[in-house]
Amino acid sequence: MSAKKPLYRGRFAPSPTGPLHIGSLYTAVASFLQARSQQGQWLLRIDDLDPFRCKAQYSQQIISTLERYNLHWDEPIAYQSERHHSYRAALQTLQQQGRLYPCQCSRKDLANRQSANTVYDRHCLTQRPSANQTCALRLRLNAEQISFKDRVQGLQRQDLARQVGDFVIFRKDQVYAYHLAAIIDDDEQGVSEVLRGSDLLDSSFRQILLQQLLSIETPLYAHIPTINDAYGAKLSKQTFAADVALSPVRETLIQVLGYLNLQPPKELLDLEPSEILNWAIPRWSIDKIKPETSILF
Ligand code: GLU
Ligand code: ZN
Repeated sequence: MSAKKPLYRGRFAPSPTGPLHIGSLYTAVASFLQARSQQGQWLLRIDDLDPFRCKAQYSQQIISTLERYNLHWDEPIAYQSERHHSYRAALQTLQQQGRLYPCQCSRKDLANRQSANTVYDRHCLTQRPSANQTCALRLRLNAEQISFKDRVQGLQRQDLARQVGDFVIFRKDQVYAYHLAAIIDDDEQGVSEVLRGSDLLDSSFRQILLQQLLSIETPLYAHIPTINDAYGAKLSKQTFAADVALSPVRETLIQVLGYLNLQPPKELLDLEPSEILNWAIPRWSIDKIKPETSILF
């Protein structure tokens, strides 16, 4: 009996803090092609973890824009806002391991004590928290070196204690940290490879450490270059990148395939959006993506 190749499961995980712009559409298309070219599944997760920044209206907009571009996902959509029980359980495990400690430092406290870009000074590691103030929870790091081989960017290494410092797992405003939520969800959804923008490369080390502490298998990682504007800033809601819901579907898809180095011919313009994607699936290869952190819009 031949061994069955494990199924590829990829995902796209937008945060609904604004409409979908070309930079996020490009990540969506890349992860879609990566899954479909391996007869794998492609899942959609809405990262609406932060109630202060996310809006249901944007979730709806993102979902209908993905449909408009013919990026059809498998299985029901997962919403982080509905998954707090899983995050709470993971937090408790870390707490039982004695890895978490409360921190009451405000941004101002930190700015007064330490210069920007330095790691947290562990002020609260030895303090008793005052009862009438909410706390963040930080993860106490040991001398933890994390390395992994990124499918696009190559071998990566980080000394977490020196380069990141004890990081926040549960925020002072009582929101779970993205790092924790993302790894719990990727695991529960059986994601075999995380393909996302290189702006999240740095967060992978923290996520891998959390996977190790929680006995979760580390998926494969592939961080593709982000699309930056002429000023070097990543296209994002903050730089007012245009909503692709308003762009012409064929032209925009073809533009995205160009960014993914697929050299789409002009004739694709005569095809339906689903046919454009079908043209791209067999031509896609992650090896065509260069190990750069950004490309120009
Ligand atoms: N929700 C995150 C973002 O939009 C992406 C999370 C991930 O891909 O791990 O930046
Ligand atoms: Zn503190």
